[in-house]
Amino acid sequence: MAQVRLEHVRKTYPNGFVAVDDASFTADDGELLVLVGPSGCGKSTLLRMIAGLEDVDDGTISIGDRVVNEVAPRDRDIAMVFQNYALYPHMTVAGNLAFGLTLRGIGKAEIAARVGEAARMLGLEELLERRPAALSGGQRQRVALGRALVRQPQVFLLDEPLSNLDARLRAAMRVEIARLHRRLGTTMVYVTHDQVEAMTLGERIVVLDRGRVQQIDTPMALYERPVNLFVATFLGSPAMNVIHGRLEASTGTGDAALLAGSGLRIPLPGLQVPTEWQGRELAVGVRPEHLVPADGAEGETIEPVIEVVEPVGSEVFVNLRLDGQVLVARLPPGPLPRVGERLAMRVSGGKSHVFDAGDGRRL
Ligand code: ATP
Repeated sequence: MAQVRLEHVRKTYPNGFVAVDDASFTADDGELLVLVGPSGCGKSTLLRMIAGLEDVDDGTISIGDRVVNEVAPRDRDIAMVFQNYALYPHMTVAGNLAFGLTLRGIGKAEIAARVGEAARMLGLEELLERRPAALSGGQRQRVALGRALVRQPQVFLLDEPLSNLDARLRAAMRVEIARLHRRLGTTMVYVTHDQVEAMTLGERIVVLDRGRVQQIDTPMALYERPVNLFVATFLGSPAMNVIHGRLEASTGTGDAALLAGSGLRIPLPGLQVPTEWQGRELAVGVRPEHLVPADGAEGETIEPVIEVVEPVGSEVFVNLRLDGQVLVARLPPGPLPRVGERLAMRVSGGKSHVFDAGDGRRL
């Protein structure tokens, strides 16, 4: 096993496009580290540089104690699983699993042992004699994982390995990968654009945007204390509500309030307002679960109009409009006022996030 460390890594493609800009992070020995960000943020480029499939322009990449910038991919002791897990169609599952090991000159008995072990771990024992055409998408993906597993590398690199699967299978495979990681304890770097996958799989997550690392932390720390508006709105579904306006310090009720647009006034209970925030243009974020029915509680409320109600069984997403401002609330299931009616609501105490309206950083 080994840690993977990137220090000030930069990648400019020949057309001059800077895909990765000064990236530094470490996947600790045995950690499952997720790289997440929107399409084009540079996550695959980062993973390909760790694998040695892409040159590094600046900075260093180390695996274990060794700087690997100049080390050939096959000598890095890593195994990579891609989104397009091309299996050899003319070979059986067993043949696909064994192929890389045969190439490396590993003995027959050792190959049989490793293939057997991987098949057992991934539930492929009954399928070893089948060819890829006779497998489901999920089974093929498991074979692709198995091919990496039999290599017994120091580090696994996974690039969107589940994105070709349907939602249900993806959720099931996610659990299998988490279980596999727990059992093997091998360092994994996992790339995805899917924030749910990142939040559920990652021990820590690196959030990327436009080639730059935005924040590195545990899923809950990212969710509860995003360092900027990008991280705040990228993680969480439905996304955090963001309202632009000026803050006003405590009113008669002791709450701070946000004054937005034409006369809109949103009380923000429990928010401490330093003097330098007074009168300044800010962006205030409120997660959908922190916008709750007032239920006759003390303090000021807002009364947005219900526009759309989306029941999903365990909860209800409600789209609301307050003057020009659109808001989303996540409510427990139960009777609600109808579309077009007003619902008295409030922001949960101490749950608002304040960002600079200009550069989006957390204040
Ligand atoms: P996706 O989720 O869509 O795969 P990504 O975050 O993995 O995106 P990368 O594949 O790392 O993104 O690409 C990062 C940026 O670099 C993108 O804007 C892409 O267009 C650009 N890029 C990738 N490969 C090249 C190349 N060979 N030449 C020029 N630009 C490239």
